[in-house]
Amino acid sequence: MNIHEYQAKGLLRAAGVPVSDGRIVLRAEEAKAAAGELDGPLWVVKAQIHAGGRGKGSFKEASAGEKGGVRLAKSVAEAEEMTKQMLGRTLVTHQTGPAGKQVNRIYIEDGSDIERELYLALLVDRQTSRVSFVVSTEGGMDIEEVAASTPEKILSFSVDPATGIQGFHGRRVAFALGLTGKQIKQCVDLVGKLYRFFVERDAEMVEINPLIVTDKGDLKCLDAKMGFDSNALYRQSDILALRDETEEDAKELAASKYDLNYIALDGEIGCMVNGAGLAMATMDIIKLYGAEPANFLDVGGGATKEKVTEAFKIITSDANVKGILVNIFGGIMRCDIIAEGVIAAVKEVGLQVPLVVRLEGTNVEKGKEIIEASGLNVIAADNLSDAAEKIVKAVKG
Ligand code: GDP
Ligand code: MG
Repeated sequence: MNIHEYQAKGLLRAAGVPVSDGRIVLRAEEAKAAAGELDGPLWVVKAQIHAGGRGKGSFKEASAGEKGGVRLAKSVAEAEEMTKQMLGRTLVTHQTGPAGKQVNRIYIEDGSDIERELYLALLVDRQTSRVSFVVSTEGGMDIEEVAASTPEKILSFSVDPATGIQGFHGRRVAFALGLTGKQIKQCVDLVGKLYRFFVERDAEMVEINPLIVTDKGDLKCLDAKMGFDSNALYRQSDILALRDETEEDAKELAASKYDLNYIALDGEIGCMVNGAGLAMATMDIIKLYGAEPANFLDVGGGATKEKVTEAFKIITSDANVKGILVNIFGGIMRCDIIAEGVIAAVKEVGLQVPLVVRLEGTNVEKGKEIIEASGLNVIAADNLSDAAEKIVKAVKG
């Protein structure tokens, strides 16, 4: 689960990490008072969406010369004006995709004078099963771009969980960033606090880009992006409370309400499968036959008819879906339950696209009977490759 920048900064502030003072604004009328509470003489007006690259992004239907989603204001009035301009509009950045994201919250921050912009991130390195630091002197830029063009400017290392974070880790970061004097001590302190925060709060990713050196020579986190392990949210109730459902894919949100393992993708073949491994194999074989999966979906072992119905409805709600492949190997999951769920869903929402069903395993005969008796226009398939071939053919001709 991801959170907004202003929420991430709230957590950092509570952890004793240096961030600027700021106010969150949900309605344009609040902007003046919010900006007025900050000292100035510089204000930063920041669109809050779950995506980076806001500064370089652009609004839909922007007027000529209009700036992106992070703007500098020289007065309270200007900050208010910028807030009004941005609220409710759709911001497109290289991370949002072409559809962009609607801006419903604006963070007004006390502006900083920047000496240097640096990059610091913590993430889970699955290869070493450790928390890793990624550090670069090239802050404020897209780190993927730095990694591609000047990989030597990125340092990364992981922390042994047996020893935890140590002073030398912080000094390593400080020297990689070319910090001097009091900044080295600040860096050791920052690295320790970020690491402990990361572990204690079950974070998956904490990205500070840029981490700055101010004109006074102090370190400060100017931007913060955070993601948390969804499986650990049961023990992080205050972080769960920061969830902004409007930022999430509507289909994934519906799926999470029914405890379905669903991930939206860009392709045209909707997939309903039981078992994560079979779901992955189904996606692979769709690609092999020349099409792209529209989603990953594992309905799980103990799915009820209602859950299957919901899953089918989520798949058909995706406008990109031009065909559906149901691939069930009934073990704990019974084929007749799947058949009943599919039919119930089709009765409710109709079926505008070709549907290929491959059933195998427990109660397969019963399942096939149910589908046959329903009179639905279903293309039956005998095995995985037969099913993939048939759905791709039905969609692509
Ligand atoms: P992002 O574009 O979504 O990554 O948003 P950031 O919060 O990183 O802001 C983008 C850029 O705006 C930063 O890299 C800075 O160059 C600039 N910026 C943000 N806050 C301030 C500030 O307080 N003072 C100044 N001078 N520039 C800022
Ligand atoms: Mg940034």
